[in-house]
Amino acid sequence: MTGERSRLDALPPLREVVAGFGVEAKKSLGQNFLFDLNLTRRIARAADPSSAGVIVEVGPGPGGLTRALLAEGAPRVVAIERDTRCLPALREIADACPGRLEIVEGDALAVPLDRLAGDARPLRVCANLPYNVGTQLLAGWIEAQAWPPAFDRLILMFQREVAERIVATPARRADYGRLGVLCNWRCETKILFEVSRAAFTPPPKVTSAVVELRPRAAPLPCDARRLARVTQAAFGQRRKMLRQSLRALGAGEATGALIAAAGLDPTARAEEIPVEGFVALARALEAIETA
Ligand code: SAM
Repeated sequence: MTGERSRLDALPPLREVVAGFGVEAKKSLGQNFLFDLNLTRRIARAADPSSAGVIVEVGPGPGGLTRALLAEGAPRVVAIERDTRCLPALREIADACPGRLEIVEGDALAVPLDRLAGDARPLRVCANLPYNVGTQLLAGWIEAQAWPPAFDRLILMFQREVAERIVATPARRADYGRLGVLCNWRCETKILFEVSRAAFTPPPKVTSAVVELRPRAAPLPCDARRLARVTQAAFGQRRKMLRQSLRALGAGEATGALIAAAGLDPTARAEEIPVEGFVALARALEAIETA
């Protein structure tokens, strides 16, 4: 890999690549590029790429993080990108590391991770996600029916406000919501570090943060879709008491029984209920609906 490392180092600077291939950042694709090699290396190292079987990168863009993942020893990277303007730049990186970078042109929302990555394991995801579809991608990976999932770790960059929602518990009420319940139900989550807006081209409006999610081996059992429904109802009217907000589930007179079966206080509000409480509600809902 030493020869490949020097071929990677010899690639033109990313600013030149972007200018040369005419890849001006498009807002509609959530494009904020990283050109700082120290930073891309830091993000790549957080994924410990040399210990992965395959790394999936969503949205490689011109390939700053892709280069770093390969330089840090990823045996194989599968990078899925929607923007065809980025493909020539990515092909140059693939040529520098024969057989280690597979470029997939397409929409990451439409392709499951295991289909992208094949059978190699451990499968890890490392990405500076497009802000416009980042949470949708994350929710899709976590709501997947099969658990444990195909991935052993997600290392993802989000806007800091989204990162704080991902790791939030009832102790941080303002940030706690559906996303936090979903993520912490099935994963251990933490913010690894923040990234200044100045690190991006063009700079976004807000600070970003890199988040790590590690799947729990045995999350509390419940149906992901019902968990989504109860959190949607409860946080849809987060200032209202559960006995009121959960009426949106359509259980009518049984709403009180549902809350009682979950062992919750009907006067509590969504932001006070820990993940276990929402799991209990989802299970109580299942009991009512399948009775
Ligand atoms: N990884 C690069 C970096 O760090 O400089 C680019 C990150 S930029 C925030 C997000 C990238 O995701 C863009 O290259 C964009 O074209 C791509 N993208 C946006 N939506 C996508 C989708 N649905 N599927 C795959 N890639 C997508």
